[in-house]
Amino acid sequence: MEQRLSPSELAREVVRRLDAQHGRPVWKQRMPPLEELVACILSQHTSDVNSGRAYQQLRERFPTWEAVIEAPTALVEETIRPGGLASSKAPRIQAVLRAIAERNGGTPSLDFLQQMDTESARRYLLSLPGVGPKTAAIVLCFSLGRPVIPVDTHVFRVSWRLGFFDRRVGEAKAHDLLQQIVPEEDIYAFHVHLIRHGRQVCKAQRPRCEQCVLADLCAYRQQVGRV
Ligand code: SF4
Repeated sequence: MEQRLSPSELAREVVRRLDAQHGRPVWKQRMPPLEELVACILSQHTSDVNSGRAYQQLRERFPTWEAVIEAPTALVEETIRPGGLASSKAPRIQAVLRAIAERNGGTPSLDFLQQMDTESARRYLLSLPGVGPKTAAIVLCFSLGRPVIPVDTHVFRVSWRLGFFDRRVGEAKAHDLLQQIVPEEDIYAFHVHLIRHGRQVCKAQRPRCEQCVLADLCAYRQQVGRV
């Protein structure tokens, strides 16, 4: 593509091409917000398979979130061990559940976030112990369907390669930049598409530029002269 696109036009074009290749991603709630939050904590620094197993074991052993709060931390730790880093994740999960219950009349639930505007919900999540911008974005995006981009390693890598920002900005700043660049109606599709593209085509070690439908748009490909 000869003509230089603005960042927003580039984002639209990326989504348009990946929609054409894979179909338009349709948002569907993965889990209620509290479940999404706990699953997100368990997913840190491990594979989806391992964190999924840890989450499943946690739900099977403890029938309610109250039971997780009241359980000995060592038992929670043992239960989620397949997810890795159990000694730090177990107390973090208990602390966040306890904080939510204390602020919510004793009930560990985040269902009330559905009634809040996106910024208020984001601020609430960030006020919880151990919840950072990335975790908050995941809950907002996947559980509440809000136009927020969680920037994981794939979204970050594909985005800087395409030229949306310099890779040295880091993931936190990348989130703010993409939030401004990507049109609101395309945010969910952009996120889902870039994860898939990063896993299947724009791989970390050897990007498959010769198979990439975005090659003529890509700053990285132009710099390194691939394809
Ligand atoms: S052209 Fe290559 S580097 Fe650019 S997005 Fe496609 S696979 Fe990634």
